[in-house]
Amino acid sequence: STSLVWLRDDLRVADNPALLAAVDRGEPVVVVFILDEVSEGIRPLGGATKWWLHHSLAAMQDKLHRLGGELILRQGKAPDVLRALIRETDAGALYWNRRYGKPERDMDAAVKEYAKASGLDAQSFQANLLFEPWTVRTGNNTPYTVFTPFWKSCINRPTPPRLPLPAPTKLRAPTAQPESDNLEYWNLLPTHPDWALAFPHRWTVGENGAHAALELFLTTRLTRYAKGRDFPAEYSTSELSPHLRWGEISPFQVWHATDHYRREHPSAEINTNAAKFIAELGWREFSYHLLYHWPDLATVNFDGRFNHFPWGEADPEILDAWQQGRTGIPMVDAGMRELWQTGYMHNRVRMIAASFLIKNLLVDWRIGEAWFWDTLVDADPASNAASWQWVAGSGADAAPYFRVFNPLLQAEKFDPKHDYLQRYLGDYEHPLLSGYPMPIIDLLASRNRALEAFKTLGDIP
Ligand code: FAD
Repeated sequence: STSLVWLRDDLRVADNPALLAAVDRGEPVVVVFILDEVSEGIRPLGGATKWWLHHSLAAMQDKLHRLGGELILRQGKAPDVLRALIRETDAGALYWNRRYGKPERDMDAAVKEYAKASGLDAQSFQANLLFEPWTVRTGNNTPYTVFTPFWKSCINRPTPPRLPLPAPTKLRAPTAQPESDNLEYWNLLPTHPDWALAFPHRWTVGENGAHAALELFLTTRLTRYAKGRDFPAEYSTSELSPHLRWGEISPFQVWHATDHYRREHPSAEINTNAAKFIAELGWREFSYHLLYHWPDLATVNFDGRFNHFPWGEADPEILDAWQQGRTGIPMVDAGMRELWQTGYMHNRVRMIAASFLIKNLLVDWRIGEAWFWDTLVDADPASNAASWQWVAGSGADAAPYFRVFNPLLQAEKFDPKHDYLQRYLGDYEHPLLSGYPMPIIDLLASRNRALEAFKTLGDIP
């Protein structure tokens, strides 16, 4: 009887426990990816994410072909599609790697129940997080809401995260593969206008691209990571986020490769930088910890005091200027244009652009979250929501809400030679010299307006 593998956000053949379990079972293996845009509660994918998904599925098809298998593509309500596939393939087992959103977990639980009731061996595996959210608890047996103790309790465990699993060397194919949709007909790519035209210059999508990015990072960027990661003109970070989003690489692989590199190149400098890098992976884990325990993270203020916060009306013209990168604030505009051109924005600039929207323009963070969800290639259900709440000050362990970034000072500090500004704003020199458009808002007045509004939350220290 066939072993079915249901892929979701784990588009890799190496360190894929569900795939390996199916191979180990010894029976023919059928691998399926289901595009489910109809099940209730499942958030529809954003445009940039779909672009990535298209290429990632193509890469996965290629990988599976080389192993003698195939990637079956189906569309519809995932539980219905699986029921049909179980019948069509006479499946005896159904395996997948876990996901952590509430609607997804509910769906997976229902599928497992159905599969087991039908006599299948149904199993889920830990593959996409180093530390399962329900296993990390405070001394009071509650989930963590502060990053530092959360991460300490993770990394101080007696045993480190397990070693990555090998890729299977061969897939045993069924005599006939079930029917598959044609990826091209899923229309995941933009057409008119094709705003993703320049994306391929920045990204090599797929498992091979993910490992190449990790290798490049460890060998050329890690030594400067802790300092360099705040300077957006530098390519000092790993740019692994979209690869991690789709599971083209696993956090176990990243963890152990970094640890291996650290041991092979022992120095205080490498140790410090490696610890900083791994701690950023920790923020990803923390975001998922929050999403798991607070499933409405993308829509509900973590800090309930914000429920009555007087957000301004989101004036369409102002919002448009922010989205298009025409605010007249160079650092914000450069970031929003990086986002258009590459589907990515440097972390420092994400914080500046988000702070400007939330605090200077007084726009509800959820509106910004939704724009990033649509435009980021790494748009992630946990990290995007947690980060927007972090900037707003409404999140767990968030930036203090009364801290309002000054985007001009931030630019001077983190892009002193204006290399980043020039990269995305063309021949930009200096706002006063280059005839750069006037700011759409007065920075000082809007800062004071925000501080007034924040008073409704309680005393500002
Ligand atoms: P590196 O510095 O190389 O870090 C390595 C990995 O650690 C990243 O790939 C990522 O998986 C994780 N990581 C790093 N920083 C964070 C963080 N602050 N929170 C959670 N995980 C982190 N990250 C996303 O992956 N998806 C998002 O949708 C997303 N939305 C964001 C929205 C806002 C407003 C802000 C301020 C940040 C957001 N981030 C998001 C976090 C961060 O900006 C990106 O993870 C990072 O810029 C990715 O670049 P990198 O892979 O080179 O990071």
